[in-house]
Amino acid sequence: MSKHGFTTTILHADRRLNVEHGAVHKPIHTSSQYGYSDARELAAVFQGKAGFSYARQGTPTTDALEKKITGMEGGIASISFATGMAALSALFTTLLRAGDHLISSQFIFGNTNSLFGTLQLLGIEVTLVDPTDLAAVSAAIRPGTRMIFTETIANPGTQVADLEGLGEICRTHGLVYVVDNTVTSPCLFLPRAVGATLVMNSLSKHIGGHAHALGGSLTDTGLFDWSSYPNILDIYKKGAPASWGLTQIKKKGLRDMGATLSADAAHRIAVGAETLALRMDKICSNAMALATFLDGHPGVARVSYPGLAAHPQHALARRLFAGRYSMLLGVELADGIDCFDFLNKLEVVVLATHVGDTRTLALPAAHTIYYEMGPELRAQMGIADSLIRVSVGIEDEADLIGDFDRALRECGAAQKPDGAEVK
Ligand SMILES: *Cc1c(COP(=O)(O)O)cnc(C)c1O
Repeated sequence: MSKHGFTTTILHADRRLNVEHGAVHKPIHTSSQYGYSDARELAAVFQGKAGFSYARQGTPTTDALEKKITGMEGGIASISFATGMAALSALFTTLLRAGDHLISSQFIFGNTNSLFGTLQLLGIEVTLVDPTDLAAVSAAIRPGTRMIFTETIANPGTQVADLEGLGEICRTHGLVYVVDNTVTSPCLFLPRAVGATLVMNSLSKHIGGHAHALGGSLTDTGLFDWSSYPNILDIYKKGAPASWGLTQIKKKGLRDMGATLSADAAHRIAVGAETLALRMDKICSNAMALATFLDGHPGVARVSYPGLAAHPQHALARRLFAGRYSMLLGVELADGIDCFDFLNKLEVVVLATHVGDTRTLALPAAHTIYYEMGPELRAQMGIADSLIRVSVGIEDEADLIGDFDRALRECGAAQKPDGAEVK
């Protein structure tokens, strides 16, 4: 990692790589292929030497972004993908085989859950467990278990996984530990610090941050010895064993499956990343203020936010994320207030899916992103019919709280008494 802080390092990363004419941004490289004056050099790149051949495997623009992500996550290398889901599907399908067993948190992004259905059709067994219950996680381990997967703060229930405990279990059993860091981002949490093997980020969320580009990444922390992992193909057992896993994902997942991040999206995400820390400050303070306002409000039955003292993992979250709790709120309205009617009264908040934007977004979770899952699985994941997922943005705090306040009043809720004790 650089000797400078988080933001300084990102801001000056491109120009320190000697961009032509003193440009401060890495250019958007649109070339599909890269030519060589020496055929031996071309062959060397095909055989593993650093360089570019065909843009499906990366461009100078994606490479510059990957280096920034590696720096942010404190890893040894990263690969970028067209979306977060492309990163996850490449990871699971290239490191797991039929007959292998994957243990995952039961509180995960809906599309990741759906992807696990596909893995099961391919013969990979998946067990969902409560990631706050280490005894349940340990009990799920069996001889074919290869990997444990979790998110940091779950969406939309805001359960906080026992990230240290899971790391300990993986270390003891020699398992690959994969952490989806999307909700916290490397600004709030470094999965490497709890022993993660691979860190996934949906770059579409906080890192890009402006809802104008999709992307995903995988970072290898360098902590796992891939020479002990049975599924690495002989051809990728070259060089330091710490790099084998990512090499296999890059060749089999990125090159062969082809979900490459475009240079244009990589550029937008890299520019967005420059303000990640600034945005996170504002997002976390806005989210805390909104959670505090809604907590104990007569129109609200329940607020899930790890920053609230009553949250079941509040103490853990405070320690892991240094007192900041990111953007996600789960809000259940009081009986008698219809969640659709309430949402329709919001004026500042955008009714839309997505999280980690500069704008505050809200949607009725059970009826949208968790609709396909059905009532049984929703109940298992703790998703009530009236649950509203809120992703807090960087608006002026008074405008945001004012919007919720007015919409609640227009739905007939009594006002929260001034100076009310926060539960
Ligand atoms: C959005 C999201 C993903 C998927 O990322 P995309 O870039 O939308 O494909 C994965 N995990 C979490 C926690 C997410 O919020």
